[in-house]
Parts: sequence; C-alpha cells; structure tokens
Amino acid sequence: MASNGALDARERGVLLGRLAAERFDVLVIGGGVTGTGTALDAASRGLRVALVEARDLASGTSSRSSKLIHGGLRYLEQFDFKLVYEALRERDLLVSKLAPHLVKPVSFLYPLYKKVVERPYVGAGLVLYDSMEGTRRPVPRHRHLTARGALKRAPALSPDRLAGAMLYYDAQVDDARHTLTVARTAAAHRAVIGTRLSAVGLLRSADGERVTGARVRDEETGRVLEVSAEVVVICAGVWTDLVHELAGVQAGYKVRMSKGVHIVVPRAAVDADTGMILRTEKSVLFFIPWGEYWIVGTTDTDFDGDRAEPVASEEDIEYILAAANRVLARPLTRADVIAVYAGLRPLVDPAVGNGSKPTTKLSREHVIDVPVPGLASIAGGKFTTYRLMARDVVDAAVADFGRPVPGSVTDQVPLLGADGLAAVQPAAGRLAEDYGVSRAVVEHLLGRYGTLATEVLDLIRSDAALARPLAPGHQYLRAEVAYAVTHEGALHVEDVLERRTRLFIESADSGAAVAADVAAIMGRLLGWNRRRRAAETRRYLDLVEAERATPAVDSVPVPGLALAAAR
Ligand SMILES: Cc1cc2nc3c(=O)[nH]c(=O)nc-3n(C[C@H](O)[C@H](O)[C@H](O)COP(=O)(O)OP(=O)(O)OC[C@H]3O[C@@H](n4cnc5c(N)ncnc54)[C@H](O)[C@@H]3O)c2cc1C
Repeated sequence: MASNGALDARERGVLLGRLAAERFDVLVIGGGVTGTGTALDAASRGLRVALVEARDLASGTSSRSSKLIHGGLRYLEQFDFKLVYEALRERDLLVSKLAPHLVKPVSFLYPLYKKVVERPYVGAGLVLYDSMEGTRRPVPRHRHLTARGALKRAPALSPDRLAGAMLYYDAQVDDARHTLTVARTAAAHRAVIGTRLSAVGLLRSADGERVTGARVRDEETGRVLEVSAEVVVICAGVWTDLVHELAGVQAGYKVRMSKGVHIVVPRAAVDADTGMILRTEKSVLFFIPWGEYWIVGTTDTDFDGDRAEPVASEEDIEYILAAANRVLARPLTRADVIAVYAGLRPLVDPAVGNGSKPTTKLSREHVIDVPVPGLASIAGGKFTTYRLMARDVVDAAVADFGRPVPGSVTDQVPLLGADGLAAVQPAAGRLAEDYGVSRAVVEHLLGRYGTLATEVLDLIRSDAALARPLAPGHQYLRAEVAYAVTHEGALHVEDVLERRTRLFIESADSGAAVAADVAAIMGRLLGWNRRRRAAETRRYLDLVEAERATPAVDSVPVPGLALAAAR
C-alpha cells in the first residue's frame, strides 16, 4: 500500500485495518482487468478507493484470455465498427504509451485458400482495420504475400490449395501480469487493494434507500468486516448476477457465460516465425506465439457449470486440434499438448428470455447499470477496452455525488514500469554488469516489469541465491517469487505459479516440481513453519491434480507431480 504501488503480502494486517477503519469514495468488487482498471480510473481522479477480490488478482477470466490486445478482425464482419475502432485506439495507446513494457506488437498470417474471391475481401477488411488506427501507428500496416511468401514465413502450412496470405499486426500481453500492474498502479495512486476478500453482502443506509458499502469475508481467516463507501461498483465478470443478488437487486442486463478453451504446444511443433489466424466455420482460430510455446484457440460455447474453475472437455480439445490440422502439413496430436486452459467470457445478452443467439454473435461491447443509489455495475466488453469501460462506469458511479469529480485521466497515466523505459532498454548491458547477471536475465526482467526490473535485481543483490532459475528450462528466477510476495501481493503458491509466473500453462508438469521451492521462498517472507509450507505445497499439488483429473487433460502426463509430492 505504499505509494510506490507495492502490494506487500506481509502487511495484510495493515490492509485489513485500513479497509475496516476508513471511509472510501468508491469500493470496487472484483480484481480482474475491469475492476483494477476501475480502481485506477477512480484513484487517479483523486478519489479514495478500495478494491476487494474474492480470490487472487486476475484469477477469473483475466488470466485465461487469448492474451491479445486487438481490434478483433472478425468483429468487422459483424459490422461492429465502433468496437473495433475504439479497441484499435486503445491498442495503440497501450503499445506506445501506457504499457509498452507489457503490450507488444505481434504479426498474424492469414492464409488464403480461394484464389479469386478471398484476397480482395480480406484485403478490404485489413485496409479498413489499418485505417481505424490512431495517428501513432506503433504497429506496421498489413501486407500481401504470395503462397511462396506465406510458406517462407510459415513452413508448417500445408502447401495444398494455399493461394497466398495476408500479414497484419496486432498486439499481445500477459493478461494476468497486466491486470496486476494496473492494480499496482492504482495502489500507487493510493487505492487500497485486497485479495482473498469476498463481498458477501451489501450495506444499506438507515432508510434502506442507498448502498453504503459491503460486508467482506476474509477468505484466509473467515473473519467478516464492513467496508464503507459512497458508491460500490460491481466489476465481477461472470459473477455479476450473483453479486447483484447479494444486494437484492436485479440488474438491467443479464450476463451469459461463454467458454473459451486454449491448448499450449511447444514452439517446435509448428514451424512459423509469425502468429497465424485461420477462419473456422463459426469463428476464427489463432496460433499465438508465447515465448517457447504456441497458444492455440479458441472455442466459443455456452456454459453453465462452475464459474471458478471452468474445465475443457474432450470435444473442445478435439475441435481445436481438428481446426489447426486443416492447414498444417504435420498434424498436431494430443502428445504435443503441454497444457489446456479454459476461461469464461462475460457476455451481455440483450436477448435473454426470448431467444438463443449463439455466443459467437453476441456483441463484445459493455453495458453499465445503476440499479439503486450507491451501486453501479458493468459487464461485457473486452480486455482491450478495459480503460474505456473503467472510465464509463466511474462516470456513472459518481454522477450523484453532489460535488464535482474530475474526469478520467487514465489516457495520461502510464502503468508502473512504463515511465522511462526508452532510456532503460539501451542500458541493459550496463545494468547486467552492475548487478552481476547476464544480459538475458536483464532483458527477461525488463520484458515483465519494465523499469521496475531494478527492484527485482535489488533483491538479487542482497541475496545472491535468488539469482538462480526457478525451474530448469525456464527464465523465471527465484527472485521473482520473493518479489511476488513483497511487491505483488502473492499469498499462496498458486498465485506465483499460475499468475505472477505462468508455469502452470508453460510447463508440462504445471510447475508441480517446483511447488515446494516456491513455498520455501514464500514461507521465509511470510513466516510459514515447516508444516505450513508442506500444506501450501499440497494445496497447489491438489489443484494441479484436480485439473488433470478433468477428461480433457488426464492423458497429459505430469512428470513432476510424484516427485514434488514426495518432498
Ligand atoms: C477464452 C477467452 C479469450 C479471450 N480473449 C481476449 C482477447 O484476446 N482480447 C481481449 O481483448 N479480450 C479477450 N477476452 C475477454 C476478456 O478476457 C474479458 O473481457 C476480461 O478479462 C473480463 O475481465 P473482468 O474483470 O470483467 O472479469 P474477471 O477477470 O473474471 O474478474 C472478475 C473478478 O471478480 C471477482 N469476484 C467475483 N465475485 C466476487 C465477490 N463476491 N467479491 C469479490 N470479488 C468477486 C472474481 O474472483 C474475478 O477475479 C477473452 C475471454 C475469454 C474467455
């Protein structure tokens, strides 16, 4: 909670004390990208802000997306021009100014198979797409490729029927890290950010007319506290309807859950030096470069199961493999699949009650509601447009404050780690020398923390053992685990392995083999005894086992699991 934006997990007592004692202007429920964006928007207007998240920051949809910051080429076909236009402008702002350390350009190859009709159609779409960009143009314009040109960039494509390709640019992000960084930037503007705190009821004024805060349960201890605020803003994604129920109010919209599944395969399984996008019958399929891996997906199906842990089905995996294999010379098989993850899109369904529009056809625009005084809510939207969503919901939330509240300034507020990046990047070699680490280590840290990389390096300076890699074959350092506790609010092993690092999806054993090491590093900082460390390790291994027990992933081996459990 310091004004450098550190979320120090060791100061939970102080955090809970502040939540119970202070009166806030805005209390945000939900710590996904929408909620953290809302906290940042309100705090940077000078408002006193608190945010409560039931589990961990980004533990809902905001760590399970396709990780693209994009206009969404396919929405042009649905004539959703406003959404594409706004999203492209947000993309450019994030790449060039707000988060250049996190949001990076990525190219996509769009193979063409119908010689005459497809090129002019897709080409016209891309001319429109590029023309909607802002004036900054941080990503190049699209290009036409011949079939030979396409195979040069993507030898993995089968040459059969390939008539050529288009190459265009969008951007990508580590969604969980971005959400965390938005939360930290809000904290740097004095927002109080708390995780493992569930809103379990809303407080009302004596006359019952106005919502005046929330009753919040500390999931670590079961203790319940009351947080007072002038307005409560619900940013609970697919949980929105449930939180409205707590208030005993009905929102003016309904959230429909649509499940999207991705598989992760090694980079070597698909020979290409660019991302790819394929048309499918219902939507599109992306091959997204992700370090040493490809993320391939996604699906789009109605869902009504467990919101907290949506799981992929056998059919989801088969669908993705079949769609990918339609264009690949060497087909992907189940043996290539390292990990599978599923997320839930919180789509707003205006047709509820009178129809069943397929979820692929539902708009990705957001809706806002103020069902009773002192309560506002937002749902829908996209990761890419979180800043606009936040701006709009804060405008609605403060409308009846009876005093002037400044407008949104987040288009002028770079996320922590962005400021001064241009001057730090060229100095990577010197930083490496100063801290006695390799240049590759500095570049890895700059790509994840921007200018805050020196805070991680400072930990290494005071404890050289933290310079060691966390897991063989991966770039993450032990120092990043310590930093996750002291600056990024990590309370449990899964926070580190699922979201502060992404070993859960990047490692064939989901990071199971290093769970005990993570617990040891965390435990030293959080005062865990041996028993607690073992319990925290077991908790993570159980989570991995539960995930593996689902039909879609049980055939993926977990080499580290037995080893880690034996420690
Ligand atoms: C498969 C898939 C792919 C996608 N790909 C992209 C993409 O490439 N680009 C893009 O722009 N968008 C994409 N999206 C959409 C984007 O991911 C979502 O729109 C966005 O992450 C939603 O964020 P959110 O904060 O609204 O919801 P969430 O991230 O789900 O956050 C809601 C939070 O509220 C918390 N919560 C719930 N109830 C309570 C309570 N009672 N008390 C406290 N906290 C509570 C939850 O724990 C959760 O963390 C994708 C979505 C999916 C599913």
